[in-house]
Amino acid sequence: MVGSEDVNGYWGPITASTEWCETNYAVTEYVAEFYNTISNLVSVLLGLLGLVSCIRQGFERRFICLYLSVIAGGIGSALFHSTLRNVQQQSDETPMVWNALIYLYVLYSPDWHYRKAMPTFLFFYATIFAVIHNSARFVLGFQLHYIFLVMLCMPRMYKYYLSCSNPEARKVAHIYLHTLILGSICWLIDRTFCTWIERVMPFNFQGHAWWHVLMGVNSYYGCTFLQYCRGGQLDRDPKITFFLGLPLVKLTKPVRLKEPEKES
Ligand SMILES: [Zn+2]
Repeated sequence: MVGSEDVNGYWGPITASTEWCETNYAVTEYVAEFYNTISNLVSVLLGLLGLVSCIRQGFERRFICLYLSVIAGGIGSALFHSTLRNVQQQSDETPMVWNALIYLYVLYSPDWHYRKAMPTFLFFYATIFAVIHNSARFVLGFQLHYIFLVMLCMPRMYKYYLSCSNPEARKVAHIYLHTLILGSICWLIDRTFCTWIERVMPFNFQGHAWWHVLMGVNSYYGCTFLQYCRGGQLDRDPKITFFLGLPLVKLTKPVRLKEPEKES
């Protein structure tokens, strides 16, 4: 929690540039923000499920990278919230930007004329960002930059949604959007009204932990929707199937897809 710098647990003084509304070391001395840490399990588990599914279906490397960035973000975020140290903070925030850049590649590359230039540019952008962010420790700058990248994805996502006629795939897109909105509200409440939550509310509803849960679901449904669209672009007759209530994309023509020869 902001203002609780004097509370030192197992990981020592807090060196992170940002703190959240959860009380530090309240559950155990080994984890600074307990709920903000364990809530990252959703991203890691759903990311693993998506990764295994997309490898089994022979999806392209871009989707493997996408799921790996989701898993890396979940692990990095857990490291950050459990320690509240600056180095671990980078392992939370940097994969978030990498994830958004891979989203941009997946969304825009089918119509991109400079196919080799785009991943090269994005790779250098991601690397330079990581180096600069590590030394400069932006707070507001990082948040605005991340929102900008997510906003860049939105028009293309909407275009894919409009061109998708499958009701189950559209439902996946709806859940993607709703979890993004709900998660953002939880993030904002936790960030803006912490003092009020502390003074007035009978309990802390752990808004930042809910942001993690909802964004874990959001990432999974976003990736799944894009897999479905990509399957259609490649004429692989994609279908939405379910595993424990979670959607998976099955290619009914399960030919291994290779880049870049079979790109549309
Ligand atoms: Zn977080």
